[in-house]
Amino acid sequence: MEKYTGTKFRTILEADGAGSESGLIAAGKTLSKIGVVAKAVGNISVRIGGGMLITGAGSDLGDMSAEDIVYVGDYRAGVCRARGKKEPSSETPMHWSVYSEFPEVNAIVHVHDKAVMENGAVIKTTEREEPYGTPELAGQVVDALRPDNRYIIIKNHGCLAVGKTLSEAVKLAMDFHERFANDKKKFHRKFLCRI
Ligand SMILES: [Zn+2]
Repeated sequence: MEKYTGTKFRTILEADGAGSESGLIAAGKTLSKIGVVAKAVGNISVRIGGGMLITGAGSDLGDMSAEDIVYVGDYRAGVCRARGKKEPSSETPMHWSVYSEFPEVNAIVHVHDKAVMENGAVIKTTEREEPYGTPELAGQVVDALRPDNRYIIIKNHGCLAVGKTLSEAVKLAMDFHERFANDKKKFHRKFLCRI
């Protein structure tokens, strides 16, 4: 009998965005647990192969299943080619632009973190407010990330963390949340003491 010597084809493993459907589902749970995600709003993606896996439009980040994750293979001129059970996040143009402009970024977390937005005046913020899901917003985000910012505030909208891996981007979003949620508590303590 022939001795087993492994597969008889060559496998090209696609770029590991440190993510998969399960990675994104877990990331959504983590972010919702620490209260970064307000009313399930936000979107997460990882670069994979020539495209990206991204949370679906209207997904509840704290309670996703594999059906909430969509593969986007291409996005250009307002047309998105995707594989999945639902439409990809409305912020697909923003995620796609960030991956196109920053080859070292493999994961993106976008949340509406009130603690950071209210207290993070020191954080790099996009210059202009733009409507969600537009190429204009994507352009503002790309500009704010330059040359190498890893966490920014999207003016009057939310926050965005990027990383080489998904866990890096999630950790960044969590760290900033902790930092500014705690600052707020400290501020209130100080304030109350003075009264
Ligand atoms: Zn948003």
